[in-house]
Parts: sequence; structure tokens; C-alpha cells
Amino acid sequence: MSAAPDAEGYRDVVARIARAAQAAGRDPASVTLVAVSKQQPWEAIEPVLAAGQAVFGENRVQEAMARWEGRTEGLELRLIGPLQTNKAREAVTFFDVIESLDREKLARSLAEEGQKQGRAPRLYVQVNTGEEPQKAGIIPAEADAFIAACRGAYGLQVEGLMCIPPAEEPPGPHFALLRKIAERNGLARLSMGMSADFETAIRFGATSVRVGSAVFGARSPIPK
Ligand SMILES: *Cc1c(COP(=O)(O)O)cnc(C)c1O
Repeated sequence: MSAAPDAEGYRDVVARIARAAQAAGRDPASVTLVAVSKQQPWEAIEPVLAAGQAVFGENRVQEAMARWEGRTEGLELRLIGPLQTNKAREAVTFFDVIESLDREKLARSLAEEGQKQGRAPRLYVQVNTGEEPQKAGIIPAEADAFIAACRGAYGLQVEGLMCIPPAEEPPGPHFALLRKIAERNGLARLSMGMSADFETAIRFGATSVRVGSAVFGARSPIPK
């Protein structure tokens, strides 16, 4: 299954975002759709691009570069997957937004690379709201101190917070927790909500939603 040439899935998601925003008393323009193009064939992406989508999310640096190199004009590319410090240089060069800032070593690398390259991708701190051992992200109890260190010791501007709730739990309480952490740290942007729960995320204040399969169709896994 891949996206129809008329980008039907994409148009449906855009309409659902608008309805969810209106139902929450919010301006639909206050929610950015990040179309998650990881593991999608170009034939699925092309109609969505043609329909006017300009913000795309990727979870691996090399895969993103292979897919988007030479095609980034007028687009905003967001890294939404874990980032190793040895890929920080490429990530700073290539991405407009990095949503997976979750440890001091990475904060230091991003700060150093930003200085060297004279580039400052917008940054989101990833919070592991479910405290899942296999998942990236700073745990909630350490979030305030980490955000303060990013701003202070590393001189980074943090734009917002990102989370991926545990798959088997209702997402609402996780979205509420992320929002609470953002509010007490003076952060206005929340990256939360995926194909299965983006309407709920919008109700809880998401300013961007990361939607892959509902936009493009099921992913075709790329062998590791
Ligand atoms: C893959 C991915 C998504 C999109 O997931 P869908 O369920 O296909 O919408 C969103 N966020 C992150 C961090 C992802 O890795």
C-alpha cells in the first residue's frame, strides 16, 4: 500500500488536523503537520510534495540525506529519531530542526557543531514520559535541569519538547505531562502525536504532529 497519486491520505490527515484543532477551540494554522517520510518510496512522497506539503520528518541521518539531498529547497526537514554524537556534524548541516536532544553529550556536540558551521537548527528536547528503558529521551524528573543546562552551559536555544508515549498506554496523560513540563520551562512548542493519536495530541496542545503511515501508507522496511 502506498500513497495514491492524488495524495488522498495526506488530504485526509490535513482535514482531520483542522477538525481536531477547531474542536479544541484552536486555530488549525497553530498545528504544523510533519509528514514522516522515513522508509517511504519516492513514489509515495512525490504526490504529497506536489500537494504542497513542505515539512518532513526523518528518523535516520544517512537515510534522510540519501532521500532528500538536492531536493531540500523550500522544505523544512526535521530529525525525529535518536542522534549519535558522531553524526552531529551531518545533522547540524542537513536538518532545520532536531527533535531528539536528550543528553548532555549531544547538547555539547550540537553546540560545538553549531559554532563551527554557523548554523543553529531549531531544537526540541525529547522527554521519555513513560520512562521506558528502550526509548530515548530524558526522564521527566531530569527534564528541568537538562533544559537549564542546554540553555546555560551549552548556550542552546530550545524551541520545545517532544515525546513518544508508550505504545500500549492511553497517550493523553503523557501529552498532558509533556505540556506541563513545557509550561514550567517557558516553552511554547510541543511535538506530539502520530498516526494513531494525533487528534488526541492536538486536544492536549500539540503544535506539531508527526504523521507517517496515515499520510503515505504503510512503510516498506529498509533492511538495517
Ligand atoms: C515513525 C515515527 C512517527 C510516525 O509514525 P506513524 O505511526 O507512521 O505516524 C512519528 N514519530 C516518530 C519519532 C517516529 O519515529
